[in-house]
Amino acid sequence: MNIILLGPPGAGKGTQANFLVEERCMTQLSTGDMLREARDGGTEMGKVVADVMERGDLVTDDVVIGLIRERIDADKSGGFIFDGFPRTLAQADALGDLLAEMGMELDCVIELQVDDTALIQRITARSSCGACGAVYNDITNPWPEDGRCSRCGSTDVRRRSDDNEESLKQRLMEYYKKTSPLIGYYHAGGKLASVYGLGEINEVRTEISSALPE
Ligand code: AMP
Repeated sequence: MNIILLGPPGAGKGTQANFLVEERCMTQLSTGDMLREARDGGTEMGKVVADVMERGDLVTDDVVIGLIRERIDADKSGGFIFDGFPRTLAQADALGDLLAEMGMELDCVIELQVDDTALIQRITARSSCGACGAVYNDITNPWPEDGRCSRCGSTDVRRRSDDNEESLKQRLMEYYKKTSPLIGYYHAGGKLASVYGLGEINEVRTEISSALPE
């Protein structure tokens, strides 16, 4: 099964993708993680995208489509969770073509619905584990007091440099302008399931599970 998690920054895509990886042995493909890796590794592409990401703008379609193509090419077994991709109609078309090329299909698109006020609170309180990607929140799910990630034991707690109010405003603007049209696109294709993303983490997890095809 191949699925997309769609929703604005802070909607909980990464958190819920982690659950699906654990429960269903799926593979998470997060273009945000791939771009941060390139940026932190100082590759040529990483240098080009660093400023764009910092501002909260979208990186060009060619770059992210190229990253996704590489990953799908390297692992043709499927079972992908696309997290933060696609973010434009051109990316959505490219993903459809890529999957068809590999003899795969998109099974479901889960839209996580949330409101903006909650997003700002969530994002400015967000941290994650640099080793395993587990996501924490200062208020609802703080980094453990012993200083070790509860999933993998690492002490590498990280905060994203673009998790500030100014950049978030721009990221939200980009979402409403360029990404939200994908809701209609996938609804028209009969693939969309909408889940209320502001419930308790495990409730959202259960709702996603029931929305997914068996
Ligand atoms: P994320 O971790 O998904 O919030 O992504 C962080 C940043 O990476 C975004 O604000 C964009 O600058 C960039 N980015 C991630 N995924 C994409 C994408 N599919 N298309 C364009 N830019 C992206």
